[in-house]
Amino acid sequence: MGAVIDIHTHIVPSRLAAEPSRDRRWPSVELTAGDNAAVMIGGKVFRKIDARSWDVDKRLSDMVEDGTDMQVLSPMPELLSHWLPADDAEFLADIMNDEIAAMIARAPDNFAGIGMVCAQDVPRAVRQLQKVKSLGFAGIEIGTHINGTALGSDVLLPLYEAAEALNLGIFVHPLHPAGLERIGASPEFAATAVFPLETALASVSLLAAGITERFPRLRVLLSHGGGALPWILPRMDYGWSLGLKGQMTQPPSKSARQFWYDTILYDPASLSFLANAVGTDHIVVGSDYPFAIRQKQPGAFAKAALGIEAVFANNAFGFLGRTHNVKPLARLSAPNAVSVQGSRARG
Ligand SMILES: [Zn+2]
Repeated sequence: MGAVIDIHTHIVPSRLAAEPSRDRRWPSVELTAGDNAAVMIGGKVFRKIDARSWDVDKRLSDMVEDGTDMQVLSPMPELLSHWLPADDAEFLADIMNDEIAAMIARAPDNFAGIGMVCAQDVPRAVRQLQKVKSLGFAGIEIGTHINGTALGSDVLLPLYEAAEALNLGIFVHPLHPAGLERIGASPEFAATAVFPLETALASVSLLAAGITERFPRLRVLLSHGGGALPWILPRMDYGWSLGLKGQMTQPPSKSARQFWYDTILYDPASLSFLANAVGTDHIVVGSDYPFAIRQKQPGAFAKAALGIEAVFANNAFGFLGRTHNVKPLARLSAPNAVSVQGSRARG
């Protein structure tokens, strides 16, 4: 059996001090009672969190329960802070990257890392990529837009070029999505209903700008199964055949197979649909741990939905850019693992 590698998990440092001299949107973490904390942004509680966001031991024990052997750690998306002044964003990225590196160091055979850079200042971001690389991370996380700049914008080309050259992947996560005003309902719908639409917008931006064709070795991971992208690819293909091509030299559905997709779709039929649309070789297990929206038992879900298992670890290594030694955590420690092994030994 292949290792279960959860490519989509988030962290928040337990110590992220308020910095009154910095921008008012500088995020901080206020520890409250017990293992709880609040992420503060602009003087307000952005999100209540708990120690699972930073505590390695808690994560490891949850991974046993979740059947996960390795988590890939990435920043809580709001902390990407693409709206901060560049000095603040660069400083914050250093803090976040150091935190992720420290967590990995506690259990290097059970964690890998995706860091962040000051994406709103591309020359700085390109320089920071070198630090990300030196920490041994697999890549960086960015939002679905950089404070309003579309991901297909020419401004971002040097970032993609540098990431490709350094063998670093790009994890695209929905952030401050477009369209909330069309729903006219609670902003809580952002994470459930609007994130998948936002991811589709960002991926269409990348496709239309020909990013996959210009950077054929660049690895781009789309959150939440690519959101709505798989559903609109046939329509985009038809448009392409009619001459609506943007900078695409090949059908969008073909370019879309160059992206990577996590399995956070909750419904086996939806995951099968994704696999039919883009193939299985770029599908990687993900959960969104530790947040409420997370998909539990992500490895078991992916296996049940697609009827395959062994490919997922290799797919994950493919996105991570290298193989990892993975200490088999879940199956060694799970209560029912012994009976599975025992029945195998007998049979
Ligand atoms: Zn996420």
